[in-house]
Parts: sequence; structure tokens; C-alpha cells
Amino acid sequence: MTDVPTATGFVDSAALGRTLMHEHVFVLTPDVQANHDEWDEEGAIATAVAKLTELAAAGYDTIVDPTVIGLGRYVPRIVRVAQQVDVTIIVATGVYTYNTVPFYFQHRGPGLLPDLPDPMIDMFVRDLTIGIPGTGGVRAGFLKCAIDHFGMTADVERILCAVARAHRTTGAPITVHTHPASKSGLDVHKVLSAEGVDPSRVVLGHSGDSDDIDHLVELADLGYLLGMDRFGVDTIAPVEQRVATVAELARRGYADRMVLSQDAACYFDWLDPAFAGALPNWHYLHIENDVLPALRAQDVTDEQIDQMLIGNPRRYFETVEPY
Ligand SMILES: [Zn+2]
Repeated sequence: MTDVPTATGFVDSAALGRTLMHEHVFVLTPDVQANHDEWDEEGAIATAVAKLTELAAAGYDTIVDPTVIGLGRYVPRIVRVAQQVDVTIIVATGVYTYNTVPFYFQHRGPGLLPDLPDPMIDMFVRDLTIGIPGTGGVRAGFLKCAIDHFGMTADVERILCAVARAHRTTGAPITVHTHPASKSGLDVHKVLSAEGVDPSRVVLGHSGDSDDIDHLVELADLGYLLGMDRFGVDTIAPVEQRVATVAELARRGYADRMVLSQDAACYFDWLDPAFAGALPNWHYLHIENDVLPALRAQDVTDEQIDQMLIGNPRRYFETVEPY
């Protein structure tokens, strides 16, 4: 058993329970909210409390929130939500971009003038070991970064290396947003293996966007956990395809290499509210209401479902030795 840092203090890894491994609460663009958008802080918090209360009532115990710099991260707001719900929220540290680092980092770091150690590493390690500013000592429980259709740009690689170093210093696990259509998991593997990172400590997020079973098996055989974590984003892959992919991998013996989630949020400002109707399944309860019955109908056992929802998340947050 391991003490896992959460938005409301440490929780025993054995008590994480049914865990959704990739759910946001708020995804924002703070410059926009501060200047143009109508942002109702109290209303947004109340909505999040209501949605997470529904999730708790459906039998889920923990969400893992990978909202980092680049996604409007503001952990004091998450703490306020977490204090009002029966769902444990594990928060992340990291930087999210598909191409270049945020301007703050562009002239601070290795190979620049002046040539300095990457300030991201110290920021990540502080969040993981001391606490996140403004939270009274809440610690991040894992590291998060991204690679998408632009591929392994210099800055994406820089962030991945910073994440790898903070990981090896602290032992905190990693989640990488990937773009399986371009097999970016293999690019991630190249960089992480050069940094000496153990693949079993890493979730390759959004693997479930792909139904290329051979590719997913290749990543799982390297040791990675596959994030089957966008159930409800039907525009990228419909639920029938996502379910069939999980069922086939489970049939081949890979239930211990998959985690389930929806990548949903209570407030997500990348989409106009008018578009929300195009994604009617994109919410916290889609897995419980629709996906689990569909998996069972395809002969995925309750034991395999528990492995993906309970066992694998617990192992991910328990394996935290630095190396
Ligand atoms: Zn996400």
C-alpha cells in the first residue's frame, strides 16, 4: 500500500477504488475567460460538484485529472470542488502542447542564452514533492505531457525529457496524450527509453482512438499501459469501435495493460456550447451506463473490468520508487 497524493490529502492506494484514469474538471483558456468570456466561477464549481456527486452515486471513487499548464490548470479551484464531493481527485503536473512550449519557457532552458537547466523540471518536482502553489501543500500525483499530429517537435521532446527526469527523480507515474493515428507512441518510446524510463510507469493516453490492434499490442508488449480513455468522443471513434478494440485486447490477455476513461470535463471551452449536442455521450457516466454493458456483451468479464478500473490504476499509483 502507498500513500497517494490527492487534492484533499493522501489516500491509501488500496482505497482508490474504481478509478477513471483521464477525466478533466475544467479545461479553460484563462486569458480568454479573463477578458472576453463569461466565466461564472461559483456556478462552474457548483456544476462540477453536482456532476461528480452523480459519478460517486454511480459507484466511482476516483478521477485522475491530467489538466496541466496549457489547459487552464488552476488547482485551488479543483481543491474547492474536491472538498465538496465523495470522489477523490488526483491532480497532475506537466505542460501540454502539440508543437511549441508556452512563451514563458521559450527563453529559459537548456541550449538557450543563457544556457540554463530546464525550469520545468524544478517546477514539476516541486509540485510532486512539496506542493502546488496556492493550495496549502496539495501535491500532484503524476506527470502529464502531450504529442499530437505535429509529431515529436523539438519543444514536445523537450517537455517529454523534462517529464522523464522529474519522473526518475520522484518516481511519480506519467501520462502522455498521444496520437495513435500517427503511431506517436513509438516516438514517445524512443525518447523515454533513451531517458531510461520504465514503460510500465507510463499511460499512453488516447490509445483507444485507434483500432489498429497490431500497433496497440506492440505498445502493450513494450510494457505501456494503454489509455482507452476517450469513450464518448464519438467524432474520433464511435463507441462500437472503442468497445470492440478493448474486448479484442482483453480476449488476447491484455486486460492488465488497459485503463478506461472518457476525457470528459464539466467545463470545456475548446468547443462552442452549440457543438456539445454532437457529442451526447461525452460525460462522466458513459462508461457506467453504456460501455460496461457493451463490454460484458462482448465477453469481457467482471474480473477484467475490475482489473482495468481498479487493479491497473492502483498498480500505477503504487509503483512510485525513484530510479
Ligand atoms: Zn485530456
